Amino acid sequence: MSSLDINPFKSAKKKLNIAAEEINLDQNIVNYLSRVERALLVSVPIKRDNGDLEIFQGYRVHHSTIRGPAKGGIRYSPEVTLDEVKALAFLMTFKTSLLELPLGGSKGGIRVDTKSLSINELERLTRRYTAEIINMIGPDIDIPAPDMGTDAQTMAWIMDTYSMQKGRTIPGVVTGKPIEIGGSVGRSGATGTGMFYILKAMCNKLDYRLKNMSAVIQGFGKVGSIIAKHLYDHGVKIIGIMESTGGIYSSNGLNIEALRKWKAQNNELKDYKENSIKQITNEDLFATPCDIVVPAATENQINSSNAADLDCKLILEGANSPTTSKADKILEEKDIIAIPDILANSGGVCVSYFEYVQDINAYFWNLERINNEMRNILLKAFHEVYTLAAERELSLRTAAYVIAVSRIAKAIELRGLFP
Ligand code: GLU
Repeated sequence: MSSLDINPFKSAKKKLNIAAEEINLDQNIVNYLSRVERALLVSVPIKRDNGDLEIFQGYRVHHSTIRGPAKGGIRYSPEVTLDEVKALAFLMTFKTSLLELPLGGSKGGIRVDTKSLSINELERLTRRYTAEIINMIGPDIDIPAPDMGTDAQTMAWIMDTYSMQKGRTIPGVVTGKPIEIGGSVGRSGATGTGMFYILKAMCNKLDYRLKNMSAVIQGFGKVGSIIAKHLYDHGVKIIGIMESTGGIYSSNGLNIEALRKWKAQNNELKDYKENSIKQITNEDLFATPCDIVVPAATENQINSSNAADLDCKLILEGANSPTTSKADKILEEKDIIAIPDILANSGGVCVSYFEYVQDINAYFWNLERINNEMRNILLKAFHEVYTLAAERELSLRTAAYVIAVSRIAKAIELRGLFP
């Protein structure tokens, strides 16, 4: 699933430029948002279990704090680069604005293959990285969260390291923590659950019945496996799933419950055997005729080399930036509707925001309240995007950017320029 040779930050800015042209946005605002506020590069040295020293490259980027403290995940992957982190931070600014959360956008990352480290090495890496970026994070500065390659345990180590340095327990420094130390119920599945709410709203508009639909999913991790479960529970036939080590296909539909159990036992999808199942490649997956394609892995997966092969009605973007601008054009010509990342996968940051609010207030909500409030926020954003797209004949992506950037532009205007 390697990314093409596309500069991720340039490609992110292109999406803003398309929206900016649409509303004749002041070029000063475009220039302002085409840069990140600050970026920190850190070397993260750790002692390997065998006594050797190894140094990893780490990053933390604030794209914008104009609407509130920065917010965004931390990615551990061998593909992480400064431009990727900048692009992902940029996306967070528009995602939080689209949902009207009082937050900005940021992202961090370490260029590391987590599979090559022991759990103790990962802990040392995370704690040292936290110490290196400590002045850039904090509940009223920038609040990290999980992303690819990181999880609740990673957040617990960050929270502990930060708290030890500050001399008191500060749960609000990160979201996506374990529930026992100030995490929120519903956070771990929030991205996939939010995607399902958005998909249902879209299907209602188009008069599609989930029960008659089929889907393929790229990615079966924190996002892909949750949306797969929701789709499966609502009668959608999932005919293909791909993960980084390989994928499987069955025209009869895959049993998601059985696959989730298989994965929980540390198996790979491609090794799951059943009569009707055959192995497939990434190319096969995207070319599979179906109703819904769900990219839930990484960037640029739907691009100019495969967009023409897609044979579906909807794309539900679980990953950040899975579709290139060139692919967007091809999809529009084919009348395939892409539900854009900053809307489709925004349930994660939405419940992160609830976690942050709960930590600050030291008062915790139940799952029903979390899901209801998430649904309200996501559906409001969906209806705004859908209505604007229909009124102005825009793609959903451009409409989402128009709404998000208009709020940011207003905040820039109101705050004025220091000094
Ligand atoms: N990493 C997730 C995203 O890309 C969540 C970020 C957050 O919760 O702050 O949206």
